[in-house]
Amino acid sequence: MQGIKDKQLLKNFSYINGSWHKNETNFDVTNPATGELVVSVSNAGVAETELAVKAARSALKMWSEKSSNERASLLRHWFNLMMENQDDLGRILTLEQGKPLAEAKGEIGYGASFIEWFAEEGKRVYGDVIPAPSNDKNIIVIKQPVGVVASITPWNFPNAMIARKAAAALAAGCTFIVRPSEYTPLSALAMAELAERAGIPAGVFNVVVGTDAKGMGKILTQHPDIAKFTFTGSTAVGKTLIQQCATTVKKVSMELGGNAPFIVFNDADIDAAVKGGIASKYRNAGQTCVCTNRVFVQQGVLKEFTEKFALAVNALTVGNGLTEGIDIGPIISEKAVNDVEKLVSDSIAAGATVHIGGAKHSAGINYYQPTILTNVTNDMPIAANEIFGPVSPIIAFDTEEDVIEMANDTEYGLAAYFYTRDIGTIWRVAEGLEFGMVGINEGIISNAAAPFGGVKQSGNGREGSKYGLDDYLEIKYLCMGGLNK
Ligand code: ADP
Repeated sequence: MQGIKDKQLLKNFSYINGSWHKNETNFDVTNPATGELVVSVSNAGVAETELAVKAARSALKMWSEKSSNERASLLRHWFNLMMENQDDLGRILTLEQGKPLAEAKGEIGYGASFIEWFAEEGKRVYGDVIPAPSNDKNIIVIKQPVGVVASITPWNFPNAMIARKAAAALAAGCTFIVRPSEYTPLSALAMAELAERAGIPAGVFNVVVGTDAKGMGKILTQHPDIAKFTFTGSTAVGKTLIQQCATTVKKVSMELGGNAPFIVFNDADIDAAVKGGIASKYRNAGQTCVCTNRVFVQQGVLKEFTEKFALAVNALTVGNGLTEGIDIGPIISEKAVNDVEKLVSDSIAAGATVHIGGAKHSAGINYYQPTILTNVTNDMPIAANEIFGPVSPIIAFDTEEDVIEMANDTEYGLAAYFYTRDIGTIWRVAEGLEFGMVGINEGIISNAAAPFGGVKQSGNGREGSKYGLDDYLEIKYLCMGGLNK
């Protein structure tokens, strides 16, 4: 199977309570690059999701009572196995998701880095001793795992979106269930195989794969034995899931949609801005929530930036992600390609101009040409919606004030980027942008040491960094009285 050395990593059953579950029916995982069948996978549903909850609940006491060092060494082992199998895991990821192999292997390294990070960070769940208002008491704060954590994850990062959540949950002493996207269950199942090899005990990390997103989602958001729910996906689905979580007042964290502005000021280093813009817009064929969605360029450098950016976009190669030297793979589905096509054609109808690209790509039905649109305004469909495709709308602006107002004129608040060399501009714009993450003269900002997350309707909670454990911990206040100090 396409150069995968360890065939045991290609699993087609859900992983519940340390064993692999076969179901009556199957669903097909297809390669978005070719439409060919990759693997037919056993279709788990509500009953298996309930089994996973039971398993995670039963394993909770054992896992939470392990020392932080014991958990750290198991997580470290899991990290090592992921890195040792980076090539195979990358191939599985490309086969089901489409991104170029080098990028897929990069995602495995990125996902694994969260496991490494939280293996260490779990040792630093410090409490507090607070001066009490009277001498007969002591105030002590301890932090404890929230309990069973359930998650639903998307197809655009089939490994990393799970690793970011599971690593923090497990390090905090929580047990974990994930329902990955039905487009990309194989990377999740390969992670389960490696978790088992690493010695992570049965019931601690469970993966349920199936097509009944709504039914399985209801269990994961409403079951009373689940303490916390964490989701990465669209804002629309996230809102429904938050409502469902209200029935049992779960702790919730959400990584939802984005509409990232990428701002180039007159004094910017244009070559650096072009490089950052290409990286932040076109990786994963534009299918990330932190991808540049609107390119704002100040009038003084509009011509120079557009010319240099177009040269760089023209040089991007499109094709099957397993072919050497490909920069942009397929889009996840034909429907998703049609959605991109409609955003482009509706914006052209509203006055935008195609600078380059602007149509489906001849490589196959799931491909779209790397595209630049000019003469775009902030209210056109291509700017107002999350594109999730390889299209850059360029919007010209005059003043700093105008661009901050336009950049913030969205319900989203995930990532933003800007390029300038003026220190005053840097501070004013960084503080003025209503986004959870801001890249300043930098187009790639995410790593395990940094807090990833959004404001406004892009969600709540943070993944990665020293803050990332907080989402999986409860604060408990101990009031110790009768001390007669
Ligand atoms: P994306 O645009 O990334 O596909 P979605 O929000 O549609 O975003 O999907 C993210 C994840 O949520 C996927 O695993 C999908 O199967 C799942 N999902 C979609 N709709 C629902 C729902 N109503 N209940 C539970 N899960 C859902």
